[in-house]
Amino acid sequence: MADGEQNIFMDAIRRLDKAFEYAAIDEEALEKLKHPNSILQVSIPLRMDDGSLKIYKGYRVQHDSTRGPTKGGIRYHPRVDINEIKALAFWMTFKCAVVGIPFGGAKGGIVVDPKKLSRLELERLSRGFIQKIADFIGPETDIPAPDVYTNAMIMGWMMDEYSKIRRQHVPAIITGKPIPLGGSEGREDATGRGAYYCIKELEKKNGWKPEDKKVAVQGFGNAGMNIARLLYNDGYRIVAVSDSKGAIYNENGLDIDKCIERKKITHQVNHVYSRESFYEYNMAENISNSELLRLDVDILAPAALENVINSNNAEDILAPVIIEVANGPTTYKADDILYAAGKLIIPDILANAGGVTVSYFEWVQNKSGFRWKLEEIHTRLQEIMAREFNAVYALKEKHNISMRTAAYVHSLTRIGKAIEAQGTSKYFLSKGE
Ligand code: NAD
Repeated sequence: MADGEQNIFMDAIRRLDKAFEYAAIDEEALEKLKHPNSILQVSIPLRMDDGSLKIYKGYRVQHDSTRGPTKGGIRYHPRVDINEIKALAFWMTFKCAVVGIPFGGAKGGIVVDPKKLSRLELERLSRGFIQKIADFIGPETDIPAPDVYTNAMIMGWMMDEYSKIRRQHVPAIITGKPIPLGGSEGREDATGRGAYYCIKELEKKNGWKPEDKKVAVQGFGNAGMNIARLLYNDGYRIVAVSDSKGAIYNENGLDIDKCIERKKITHQVNHVYSRESFYEYNMAENISNSELLRLDVDILAPAALENVINSNNAEDILAPVIIEVANGPTTYKADDILYAAGKLIIPDILANAGGVTVSYFEWVQNKSGFRWKLEEIHTRLQEIMAREFNAVYALKEKHNISMRTAAYVHSLTRIGKAIEAQGTSKYFLSKGE
């Protein structure tokens, strides 16, 4: 097992100590952020279509709510575990602070392989989870959203279930909903789009010509597909993409429109999940997911799961720029190896913050009962991503630190100031002078 997989939460909080050196905040704030506020574990009984009963384990973790209600997705995956959910909640706190939106961090998940469920079983499980966590979440306390293997339709079921429990329409309980059910324009591609805006800032700084740049994207789901599409439309050469079954590779660049078409045939029309892989369609040379990570490309975008870049493969990574579209794709040890090798990593808490930013826009629209146009969403998202990317970049240059440490300094400063504003020992122990 690679480093970091043992306790991904401990790995996550180690990043804070590095950043603390450069953030002028009270030590008490740092200590507070190392402990999640609250953790809920539930058992969800699910009546299967054949009449049998199965019990699924689910979690919701709220990490920190100093800057606002907690916010974070719900993941369905057979490997979900409590340390992973704690780490994901922790990252959400810092992600919301990096982009300056008034939320804290949370995350939830169910230990399940959702691809093995029928559509009706999936709906019952999603509603069952909300019945169990309804008193723990709320539009002013903790607002869920989609994550790996959950999507807009599932968010719609969850919103409906919560509204039934409360006996009122509560669209602001959850974001990432279908647009006809109160979802926002622009939420679908927001995560990939936010990452794309980061690349555009880097392109400006370095005077890149898109057609000279080769890109590999691991994970062709919501986040990965959209960064691939946006970069492809700008002329970047997307040479490899993958899903859980494997990767396809073409040195001259793949036709991303065709890849999307292929995925969507099975993804949206007939099934909640894509049951087939473009890996099986002879669209290009087949390679493995681990080969994809080692390709000689200019930009590598891990957009699937955690810990894929670890001490076993960090030295083999050739890409000079890594954009962490997924949460936690690089372990702590791998991070040091890559930094020493001169790689520029745009860290997850910044690179994939576009998703939560447009979720915030959705929540604001739901609360005000007024809908924004797509152009307005794109303009506001672009402004935020460009501003915060450049703020983090400036901190990196000023202190000669990695982009990751700079992103933590930036967010730690925002959260730390909020914690300090409530008073620390320095204030309470001083005698009023
Ligand atoms: P998704 O379910 O839409 O897609 C996941 C993709 O990863 C699929 O293509 C799947 O086939 C692929 N995959 C799964 N296991 C894999 C493996 N072992 N190797 C390679 N590919 C694999 O999920 P998503 O919403 O796109 O989330 C992807 C990542 O982005 C996660 O880390 C998630 O936390 C992060 N993220 C998502 C959002 C969002 O708004 N959806 C926001 C922020 C961060």
